[in-house]
Amino acid sequence: MIQAGLGHYYAVAIPALLLVLLASAEAIWPRRALVLGRNPRWRTHALFFISNAVIGRLLSFLVVVGMAANWADTHKFGVLNLVALPFWVEAAIAFIVLDFAVWLQHFFMHRTPLLWRMHAVHHSDRDLDVTTALRFHPFELIVSTFYKSAIVALLGVPLLVALAFEVWLNANALFNHSNIRLPRKLDRILRLLLVTPDMHLVHHSTLVEEQKHNFGFALTLWDRALGTYRAESILGAENQKIGLAMIDDGRPSGFIWSMKQPLT
Ligand SMILES: [Zn+2]
Repeated sequence: MIQAGLGHYYAVAIPALLLVLLASAEAIWPRRALVLGRNPRWRTHALFFISNAVIGRLLSFLVVVGMAANWADTHKFGVLNLVALPFWVEAAIAFIVLDFAVWLQHFFMHRTPLLWRMHAVHHSDRDLDVTTALRFHPFELIVSTFYKSAIVALLGVPLLVALAFEVWLNANALFNHSNIRLPRKLDRILRLLLVTPDMHLVHHSTLVEEQKHNFGFALTLWDRALGTYRAESILGAENQKIGLAMIDDGRPSGFIWSMKQPLT
């Protein structure tokens, strides 16, 4: 429990620090001019963060995923508990499988009408910056938590690894939503392995066809292997529009509107 407690501290401190660093980088090297600007978008996204933190507390990632990890460990349940592998091999397998599970979840968020209602809240943002990574409806957070817990139990992922993966995933989400202009060469090298801001930008296109590409949150492997990789929007990164085609006003900047969006 001491380890989990310390892990909880890092799970908050690392993304928080990264958020500040990326927001500063956005101010220095912006990729695109924001359509709706920072305010009240940032206030709304701060409220998203607070409501998700409240839900996260009730349905704590540590409680649900922690319970799944502890239960799998106690009952010797899950694939990784059936084989004797060095810890780092288990951790590497868990990271790769969890990353694919997240890719698959995102794919189905775009395929299933009920799930799309929740996920569309994330896509209704008309700009993309580091705070867009906070803009997930609590409904989606609940679905993700239970889904990831099931994968953690089935695979028998150790608690510390599950927690480290969560930090890694959040760090990647903050990075690939940020409005930072990376040198082209660096972008090209990075995206051999990791999803870069320009790569994720394509996924946030108002063109529905382009939203069905680049589902990855960390590794680019799955999009490349499964034929959903797209290097750039047909309109180009500079001219591409962000958001949902039918919502072309300031409504997504409002918190109440955004919370009600899945019900409309
Ligand atoms: Zn999406």
